[in-house]
Amino acid sequence: MSNAVVVGSGPNGLAAAVTLARAGLSVTVLEAESDIGGGTRSGELTIPGLLHDHCSAIHPTGVGSPFLRSLDLASHGLHWAFPDVDLTHPLEGGDSAVLVRALDETAAGLGRDGRAWKALFGPLARRYDVLADAIFRPVLGIPRHPVVLARFGLAALPPASLVARLWRTERARALFAGLAAHAIAPLTLPTSSAVGLVQGILAHRHGWPVARGGSAAIARALVSVLQRHGGTVETGVRVTSLADVGPADVVMLDLAPKTAARILGDRLPPRVARAYHAYRHGPAAFKVDLAVEGGIPWADEASRRAGTVHVGGTFAEIAYAEREVSRGRLPERPFVLVGQQYLADPDRSVGDVHPVYAYAHVPHGYTGDATEIILDQLDRFAPGVRDRIVAMSVTTPANFERDNANYLGGDIITGANSARQVLTRPRITTDPYSTGVPGVYLCSAATPPGAGVHGMCGYNAARSALRRLRIPLP
Ligand SMILES: Cc1cc2nc3c(=O)[nH]c(=O)nc-3n(C[C@H](O)[C@H](O)[C@H](O)COP(=O)(O)OP(=O)(O)OC[C@H]3O[C@@H](n4cnc5c(N)ncnc54)[C@H](O)[C@@H]3O)c2cc1C
Repeated sequence: MSNAVVVGSGPNGLAAAVTLARAGLSVTVLEAESDIGGGTRSGELTIPGLLHDHCSAIHPTGVGSPFLRSLDLASHGLHWAFPDVDLTHPLEGGDSAVLVRALDETAAGLGRDGRAWKALFGPLARRYDVLADAIFRPVLGIPRHPVVLARFGLAALPPASLVARLWRTERARALFAGLAAHAIAPLTLPTSSAVGLVQGILAHRHGWPVARGGSAAIARALVSVLQRHGGTVETGVRVTSLADVGPADVVMLDLAPKTAARILGDRLPPRVARAYHAYRHGPAAFKVDLAVEGGIPWADEASRRAGTVHVGGTFAEIAYAEREVSRGRLPERPFVLVGQQYLADPDRSVGDVHPVYAYAHVPHGYTGDATEIILDQLDRFAPGVRDRIVAMSVTTPANFERDNANYLGGDIITGANSARQVLTRPRITTDPYSTGVPGVYLCSAATPPGAGVHGMCGYNAARSALRRLRIPLP
């Protein structure tokens, strides 16, 4: 029996592990931290009993992941829970744009821009299953489903600032800016629409759920599948060289390219080593976890029912904020992403005290304190919010990196979404999972299709390994 060692238990490491174990390999996962799950960890951060997601919270890419959907994770304890409203984007004066799964309802709320919203998202959401097969894989190679892919590409390749010209109202333009800002990149960059487009398509196809019991339920379910196929996980094992891994037919690295380069040392072909060292990390996140009595007092009613609230104001404000952050400056009004997971999953609260998370995009390696700036942004659209906060925990970019070595400089998406890295991460090759060292693969979010809790990087990397071993795919 062939054996595999997976380094890192993030969703991609676990996806690779599950795929290899289902194909009949004996699999061991080595995780540096004491908890499994990487970007899917959850736990108490403020007051006892209140459940917070440490990193990922909202799972459109999870519920829409072809790999996760193939596993029947419900029988392993993973249940998606949907808020009444998927997303709101508050604007000044108590106005807001509202995104729900129903395309007609979303379009109606966007007034005269509703028709253009539907024209962009409707056809792609309807053909999502075909589209997913085309986009959750490396870009270089024989394209799958060229017609639907071309339609997607028309809107995904231009900068978000250009695509936003489809709309005239601030509601629609701001709503799209917030979606595009998930790329944590300037909205004027080519391909800066891609991430937002996928998030919008997923909203209209599957919705934006949370994992009941916290995002950690995703990792627990994957480990449960792995164990059913004989795999094991060891925590508290930090791999610093290939010698720590021991003999293995397949080694999967759920790591940032620079870490992989350090671990592989001289064995890495020089051209791959150069590419891994040149791989760029992007801006960081600065996060506050809040215990809020009575919930956030949003001025607009829809935001009080929304799982996610994008706080950043108009398209122009968000575009300015993302540009400043990419240039290493913290704007006075950064883009803030607010998660109100408890609305879909009420057991995370204690009585009328609710866990809320809010993180701002800040410059790479930012060492200042963005807490007050984040609270100011919330207060703009939810006056009096500070009076409701009974406890708070802060995660700085350095804390993110300390808790997960993949988040270099606080970059929570394991690599900048520059046009080049959106299209050819981590290097230009038809097999971006191969490290050039026989049997060793990179499977983290630094590989296609990039960040998010979908496991597709790990799944694709495992398939690449199985093909080379001539083992049939599960
Ligand atoms: C604040 C925040 C909010 C986010 N929000 C969302 C969201 O709402 N929805 C969404 O889909 N995504 C979100 N993400 C992104 C998502 O969490 C990541 O894209 C995803 O977790 C990447 O998975 P991965 O398996 O590639 O790596 P990771 O999840 O980063 O896992 C890597 C693992 O490898 C381990 N490791 C690192 N070095 C070593 C070593 N040397 N030896 C052994 N183990 C090692 C780490 O400890 C970690 O467990 C968010 C991330 C953060 C931080």
